[in-house]
Amino acid sequence: VHNPNSMSKEYDYLIVGAGLSGSVFAHEAKKRGYRCLVIDKRPHFGGNVYCEQIAGINVHQYGPHIFHTDNKEVWDYVNSFVEFNRFTNSPLACVNGRMYNLPFNLNTFYRLWGVRTPSEAKDKIEEQRKRFAHISSPSNLEEQALKLCGEDIYQLLIKGYTEKQWGRKCTELPTSIIKRLPFRFTFDNNYFNDRYQGVPIGGYNKLISKLLDGIEVRLGVDYIRDRTELNQIADSIFYTGCIDEYFDHSLGYLEYRSLRFEHTLLEIDNYQGNAVVNFTDRSVPYTRVIEHKHFEFGKQPNTIITHEYPNAYKHGEEPYYPINNQRNNELYEKYKSLANQQSNVVFCGRLAEYKYYDMDDVIENVLNLWK
Ligand code: FAD
Repeated sequence: VHNPNSMSKEYDYLIVGAGLSGSVFAHEAKKRGYRCLVIDKRPHFGGNVYCEQIAGINVHQYGPHIFHTDNKEVWDYVNSFVEFNRFTNSPLACVNGRMYNLPFNLNTFYRLWGVRTPSEAKDKIEEQRKRFAHISSPSNLEEQALKLCGEDIYQLLIKGYTEKQWGRKCTELPTSIIKRLPFRFTFDNNYFNDRYQGVPIGGYNKLISKLLDGIEVRLGVDYIRDRTELNQIADSIFYTGCIDEYFDHSLGYLEYRSLRFEHTLLEIDNYQGNAVVNFTDRSVPYTRVIEHKHFEFGKQPNTIITHEYPNAYKHGEEPYYPINNQRNNELYEKYKSLANQQSNVVFCGRLAEYKYYDMDDVIENVLNLWK
């Protein structure tokens, strides 16, 4: 980090990516007197938390986003820009036309087996697991899941969903995907265990606008395409794009799992009565239906729903989830060594670090950089 206003180049920092990582970094840099330029190749800011307003409803364009954290500093930080509502994520699973509460809790167990108390539920789960007790070291995800929860939960709520999500059979997936299955022996449908949770009142764009307030942002600018000129105008770079792209994929391509979203405007006020419903049947091609107005308790006359389809990733499409298998992790480590040799570039965020981060992790990481 150099002196503010060193005047050596037009900007102290070129920030590549106007997502949450880039926006928090830019805000903190500006606060300390650094001259910042933020660019993004997309036509909007916000990265994957961006929402498009349609019929007065904030539509989460890149998948449903619920802010949740145990970190009070991060919670206070985001609340200093925008107030958060009391949204609690309580998704449902729909299978064979029946609805089950998630995460697995007493409501789920009651619906599955009619058990009403924690001890009845524990006995039932034990009975289900007993049949698979002989599996001492599971060799694939199916064996792992059966050992952890038995047949009923696996077949109804895990198998189809996981196979759609990863595009492979559970018998071909590694055990590492499901390390443990948290069972909750209370009637509590709150998906997260974190102390703080909510959605910004007015949407995520409001949070990003506040972070970027007073900072120059150029949209539709691709760093990789224009890097020769862009490198001339700033002393240092904060890079939040894909790390393999930065190095022109010289060591190979990192792999991702992608998603496809189909948004539909319906002329009814309430379609499914909940923000998120998972479809765990293999025969249903999508994994989730999102009804966006419920994130903000919307009272609009219409509603917007989104069908979320898992998708194989091809270079040039939107990279959503890193596939952190051995091949990709080793490749990432090689890129990381190259990155460490770049003296004036910081690689940060979900794409530059090839890691799934929740929003609170991203904010915590960037704030830590300034400590
Ligand atoms: P991004 O948001 O991806 O921002 C990177 C930006 O860099 C993008 O805007 C991109 O266009 C830009 N860029 C890339 N390359 C270039 C280039 N060459 N030139 C210019 N610009 C470039 N987190 C939660 O906490 N709660 C949730 O409920 C939640 N749900 C999620 C659901 C889905 C489906 C997914 C995929 C993620 C979810 N997340 C959730 C995680 C959350 O989206 C991330 O933590 C957050 O978006 C990461 O921010 P980022 O700035 O690191 O990356």
